[in-house]
Amino acid sequence: MQIGFIGLGNMGAPMAANLAKAGHQVLGFDTAGVAVDGVTQAGTATEAVASADAVITMLPNGAILRAVADQIIPAMAKGAVLIDCSTVDVDSARAVAEQASGAGLLFVDAPVSGGVGGAAGGTLTFMAGGSDDAFAKAAPLFDIMGQKAVHCGEAGAGQAAKICNNMILGVTMIATCEAFALADKLGLDRQKMFDVVSTSSGYSWTMNAYCPAPGVGPQSPADNDYTPGFAAELMLKDLRLSQQAATSADADTPMGQAATALYEQFVENEDGLGRDFSAMLPRFEKRRRS
Ligand code: NAD
Repeated sequence: MQIGFIGLGNMGAPMAANLAKAGHQVLGFDTAGVAVDGVTQAGTATEAVASADAVITMLPNGAILRAVADQIIPAMAKGAVLIDCSTVDVDSARAVAEQASGAGLLFVDAPVSGGVGGAAGGTLTFMAGGSDDAFAKAAPLFDIMGQKAVHCGEAGAGQAAKICNNMILGVTMIATCEAFALADKLGLDRQKMFDVVSTSSGYSWTMNAYCPAPGVGPQSPADNDYTPGFAAELMLKDLRLSQQAATSADADTPMGQAATALYEQFVENEDGLGRDFSAMLPRFEKRRRS
């Protein structure tokens, strides 16, 4: 396939490299002028997409996605598929889907889970929204860049799945960290706490697979001085998207709202910026009930 790839950042660059390695012709564009192995650099976004069968975008947010869509959709060939892998608000995903369909294009919103390691290793999970035809056309590319793709429903369903998952993740990370900090103050050994909770009803991915306590459970960013991993500011971005969606859909999400407020405080007023999102544990350790 001829593929246009817009947004060659931490995630986009390795994803584009994997497509090129698999034998596809990839024309890439990034405003920062990034060069990627095997990917031909285009001078503009429209040049990157003009003769593409599939175009992939991997951009920072919904506003940038909408601006890029305005540029590239008129330049794409009818019948081509536009696959947005960025994490953006559901409303932007649906707006771009409509614009693409009006121009005779297929569209899939396909945010990912798996982070930079998953992008480099080709082991991402894609959560996809769009028509059956659009998903079928994108599926062989998902197979190269990832290990799993779930077709979640119509356009926007991929973003909806992503932010619901990450709202649970943010809330459970906070719950796991505050429970460890309470256990410390009650004199409970952290390893014993892990041994009990990881095999009891309090178990979760954040406890069992990504334990925020250093030296306890499997290797995680806590064992590397909380170097991300998944940065607290990216968690905050996803939590804000969950609250934007909840407002738009009139859904009551008190725990998501509380988690958003706490990560906002952590990133903006404390020392959370640039640290892994599990660094909530040392934050709680330092605090008292007040
Ligand atoms: P990044 O900031 O490293 O990359 C974004 C790239 O887009 C940059 O290289 C930037 O120069 C480029 N860009 C910005 N505006 C552009 C424009 N108008 N035209 C062309 N290029 C433009 O971010 P990232 O970590 O690669 O994340 C990309 C997306 O993936 C985000 O939506 C993020 O939320 C999501 N995501 C990231 C991770 C992660 O661990 N990094 C995990 C899952 C999902």
